[in-house]
Amino acid sequence: MNLDEKTPLIGMTPDELRAAAAEAGLPKFAGGQIAQWLYEKRADSIEQMTNLSNVGVARLVVQYCVGLQEPTAKAVSADGTVKFLFPATERALDVEAVYIPDGDRATLCVSSQAGCKMACEFCMTGKQGWHGNLTAAEILNQVLSVDAMAMRGELPNRLTNIVFMGMGEPLDNLPAVMRAIDVLTAKWGLAWSPKRITVSTIGKLRELKQLIEGTKAHIAISVHSAMPQLRQKLMPAEKAYPVRDVMRLLRNYDFAHQRRLSVEYIMWRGVNDSLRHAEALAKLIEGTSARVNIIPFHAIPGVEMEPASMADMEAFRDRLNDLGVTATIRASRGQDIMAACGMLAGKSKNSNKQL
Ligand code: SF4
Repeated sequence: MNLDEKTPLIGMTPDELRAAAAEAGLPKFAGGQIAQWLYEKRADSIEQMTNLSNVGVARLVVQYCVGLQEPTAKAVSADGTVKFLFPATERALDVEAVYIPDGDRATLCVSSQAGCKMACEFCMTGKQGWHGNLTAAEILNQVLSVDAMAMRGELPNRLTNIVFMGMGEPLDNLPAVMRAIDVLTAKWGLAWSPKRITVSTIGKLRELKQLIEGTKAHIAISVHSAMPQLRQKLMPAEKAYPVRDVMRLLRNYDFAHQRRLSVEYIMWRGVNDSLRHAEALAKLIEGTSARVNIIPFHAIPGVEMEPASMADMEAFRDRLNDLGVTATIRASRGQDIMAACGMLAGKSKNSNKQL
């Protein structure tokens, strides 16, 4: 059995680890010890788990591996952003994760799918189509491998935040995303505060409700236009999941206190950058406590739309502020290495594309 055929332990809950331990003839409490090695001590091999019996370790390694896989390529931006390529076993497309240092913090933008089904007009990932869901282990591997690099001094800061804004629609792979969030936030896992995690989505309604009720992560909704016809042109998912219905659902939950709700708004010249669009957006999100992130567009091959001017973005922001909506223009990071919003494209296993 080669490594690819072994079952990764990362992503497993203590109950599942107890069952794996029992199968290997280890006492059940060894499940808790394995969880500690994986999530607290960050072991990268089963052999490092020195408080397990030698016989138990020998049995475990036949069927299981820790599941950490280093990135196969990286590109470093002039602004310190680093884009990593991670293998997605058995999919035609590898996936990208983006490390964004900021002062003494660092955010990792993780992928949840190899490609995406949502076909947003402005997105490189959308243009590649869908090549499969990542497992919770593959999502967690992006976090644990990059954090391990920071622990070894290869990156400036340990990870402080995770955003599910890389390749894929997280709510299209909800079980794996929820499991990854569980491991990141559980006391037996990495014990992170859920306030360090943001899930960005187009707003699949049933799954959004499950995510809001099943986790405490922050939520970001990709809106990009408050006008249904225009949004449907930009984001075909508007047809199945109208953004008005998404906002109606969000009004049922409290985002004014512990939990943050944001609206993502990529802005294009002459498309969605007028004050009329700002007013429509303010009306759309009324009663939700959402804040608006205005995101500069980055030109990508095959898309003719152009970025809005800074003056128009500022006027849009100011109009929203006048209407009582908190709005900011997000600083662009990693554009020179194609790591900014909408630019992630993964790598086809059949191509020679360099990162
Ligand atoms: S913007 Fe997000 S949801 Fe839309 S195609 Fe790209 S990855 Fe998918």
